[in-house]
Amino acid sequence: MKRSVTLFISFVCTLLFLGSFNSNVNADTKTYNIGTDVTYPPFEFANDKNQYVGIDIDLMKAIAKEEGFKVNIKPVGFNAAVQSLQSGQLDGVMAGMAITDERKQKFDFSKPYYRTGFVMAVATDSKVSNLKDLKGKRVAIKTGTAAGNYALSLKKKYGFKTVTFDDSDNMYNDVVHGNSVACFDDEPVMQYAISTGTKLRIATKPAQLGHYGFAVMKGQNQELLQKFNEGFDKIKANGEYDRIVQRYISKKTIEAQKAANTKANSEHTWIGLIQKNTPTLLKGLTQTIYITILGIIGATIFGVIVGLLGVIPNKLSQGISTTIIYIFRGLPLLVLALFIYNGIPTLTGTKISAVLAGIITLTLNEGAYTAAFVRGGIQAVDKGQMEAARSLGLPFGKAMTKIILPQGLKIMVPSFINQFIITLKDTSILSIIGILELTQTGKIIIARNLEGFKVWAIIGAMYLIVITILTWISNYVQKKLK
Ligand code: GLN
Repeated sequence: MKRSVTLFISFVCTLLFLGSFNSNVNADTKTYNIGTDVTYPPFEFANDKNQYVGIDIDLMKAIAKEEGFKVNIKPVGFNAAVQSLQSGQLDGVMAGMAITDERKQKFDFSKPYYRTGFVMAVATDSKVSNLKDLKGKRVAIKTGTAAGNYALSLKKKYGFKTVTFDDSDNMYNDVVHGNSVACFDDEPVMQYAISTGTKLRIATKPAQLGHYGFAVMKGQNQELLQKFNEGFDKIKANGEYDRIVQRYISKKTIEAQKAANTKANSEHTWIGLIQKNTPTLLKGLTQTIYITILGIIGATIFGVIVGLLGVIPNKLSQGISTTIIYIFRGLPLLVLALFIYNGIPTLTGTKISAVLAGIITLTLNEGAYTAAFVRGGIQAVDKGQMEAARSLGLPFGKAMTKIILPQGLKIMVPSFINQFIITLKDTSILSIIGILELTQTGKIIIARNLEGFKVWAIIGAMYLIVITILTWISNYVQKKLK
């Protein structure tokens, strides 16, 4: 028992050590964590080499270079970025974020850097031509966006229903496929999507004209904001700003992007897709495996300790065990991940890396399940065994480790294997906090090439391969244990 506690403590220390790699203070140049959208072209998107590019990204990098700081761009999605900024996990958000009065109460914005307004888009062959035609229909919006809020403000007056998406590409697709009749987004983004091949048409004039700004939390990171503004003035004056914008919206780039989006492009064949995305997918897979392994180790140690607490003949320790299992088995993994990543830092003000938050989430959630079957496995061993051992004069601890556990372990092994597989699959849920694991990698690739069927099929196959290997290893260990 003492050994496992020491083990657990050293495990937590290792985690914290690993987590500290993500800390952002550098000796001479400061590195800031900047959140951005998964896809919001031409402002941010993954190019055909799966690198993050776009007006926002290039502006940010040019300004950082000008002002001598470093940026770590995190493509977590718009809503996730805004929430992580609020909880202090990110230093700033650069994601085509409109400067609105409501947002100004929570955030400090840079100088406005791009003009925008909200438009409604419909399918190219749609009969919907204005807001009145939306009566009783379904409209797609994107979580937490200003255009989405604008749509919500019109909902009652024009009598439509809304459905919410986290990413722009999914929102557009819903309209292209006819599930929703319209969507609301910013004019420059909508315009770009349409001119590069998305089968939509803008149906209304831009409303509530405004600007995009770079955002930091109110009253925080003021030096970053100041550097941004100063750098922005410089790149505006030396022509770099115009060059960046032109790089993305010139006729030539738009034509090239349109060609890349057509089906004739090699990336739309199975072979082409695999060839082009293998390095990125493997990187995502490595991250998935890394989190799975640490998650499994954490959950097993935590689960065994909590499970054992549940069988010690002591009311308090049994109560603790039951409560821990009740809480962490009861909480959905998604809620737990968001709570640890966004909730706790809001309260304590300390940052925690997404990967570390993910591993802690797995440790607690999968660990609670492990504890339940460890406890159950021990209780399943015939009571007579313990009584016999004790009457032979063995102390409780010895009877447990020498007599009960070896028998209980055999009962638990299949549950352990099952739990390992579930842990691996559950890592996909952690894409919500922006960990670049396999599922998040897939989202980013699809946002670029819209090949949902093929990319998800490839990713599904990758999960199955790893699960098969994991099952083989577990079965091998199980045989050895017999
Ligand atoms: N421009 C929109 C907003 O400010 C959406 C930004 C985005 O989706 N990346 O809310």
